[in-house]
Amino acid sequence: MPRIAFGAGVRSTVGACAARYGRRALLVTGGASLRAGPFWAELEQSFAKAEVHIEQVQIADEPSPDQIDAAVRAYHQADIDVVVAIGGGSALDAGKAIAGLLRPGNSVLDHLEGVGPERPYQGPAVPFVALPTTAGTGSEATKNAVLSQRGAEGYKKSFRDEALVARDALVDPDFLQTCPRSVLAANGMDALTQLLESFVSTRSNPLCAALALDGLKQARDALLPLYEDPNNAEARAGMAYASLLSGICLAQTGLGSVHGLASPLGAFFPIPHGMACGTLVAKATDTNLSAMQQREPEHPALEAYATVGRLFASEQGLSRQDAWDALLDSLWDWTESLQLQRLSAWGVTSADHPRIVANSRGSSMKTNPIVLRDEEIAAILAVRQ
Ligand SMILES: [Zn+2]
Repeated sequence: MPRIAFGAGVRSTVGACAARYGRRALLVTGGASLRAGPFWAELEQSFAKAEVHIEQVQIADEPSPDQIDAAVRAYHQADIDVVVAIGGGSALDAGKAIAGLLRPGNSVLDHLEGVGPERPYQGPAVPFVALPTTAGTGSEATKNAVLSQRGAEGYKKSFRDEALVARDALVDPDFLQTCPRSVLAANGMDALTQLLESFVSTRSNPLCAALALDGLKQARDALLPLYEDPNNAEARAGMAYASLLSGICLAQTGLGSVHGLASPLGAFFPIPHGMACGTLVAKATDTNLSAMQQREPEHPALEAYATVGRLFASEQGLSRQDAWDALLDSLWDWTESLQLQRLSAWGVTSADHPRIVANSRGSSMKTNPIVLRDEEIAAILAVRQ
């Protein structure tokens, strides 16, 4: 776990935080929006005041192995003391991977799961500081960096090691002010999905269950209000907190079928991660519930789903069936209200489904509460095609 500082304004401590590791920082950011936005001057000042010199790398879009290797080559000899990433999940994952490889200097392909030789990572990692500017991936609390190779031969795979976890996570909900609403929607559904999948995972545990449930309660109350008004400070804090908890949980418990499908979808099509998760989570939850009722009616995740249904409905007395209905109603309602696009909007056709299904059984699918059949996975896609 990183040291966590949470709250409006913690962004201004970034310079002092970085200075604890040295005077030379590599700053990793996403597209140009941070630099053009209202927080940039303050962030630069914070580094200057702490006498931290910054070199800069920009990662537009989701990071590819080539982008990571290029950054590592460029700064391998630059005596960088700390890597600071400020941005969405893409910038944070890029910073995490770069921090891991800056000293050893080898290619990230040596370690990527399911790609290449999968050599064990031996470090050392450069200290990494993460400042999320979106509320979704929880990357500030996880031990993996997701890298994307897009296209027909594409993949979306993790570089994962305990040593990659950020030393410090500075979570400042104010950053969400500048987030486009469609991004708030997609990322919010990602956080919600991660909390739900962690809660019912085959590796769920009591500590993560407590955290996930609290995160789901915050998401219940903050997701739509934040989408409707990004100036709602309470809703910003609620979703930033839910997202952080989702990262803490998923790093311990793994995820489920939604993330299993999001991986090939994001590799083969230009669909943002949160959009893929958000559009699938209602049907995927329905599918898990039906499969368990049919094949494993004593499965403990059935009660876990009912617990979430009662939480979403704010009615503790609901029967199991009513609680499951309430859970699905809430998920479908958010899918509609947040205007999450169908898969066809990203160029997916039904002819692509077999290839997506065939590539969905990566690490996330392994912790889905029940092993789904290919036709069940295909049906999830079909409903949101
Ligand atoms: Zn996710």
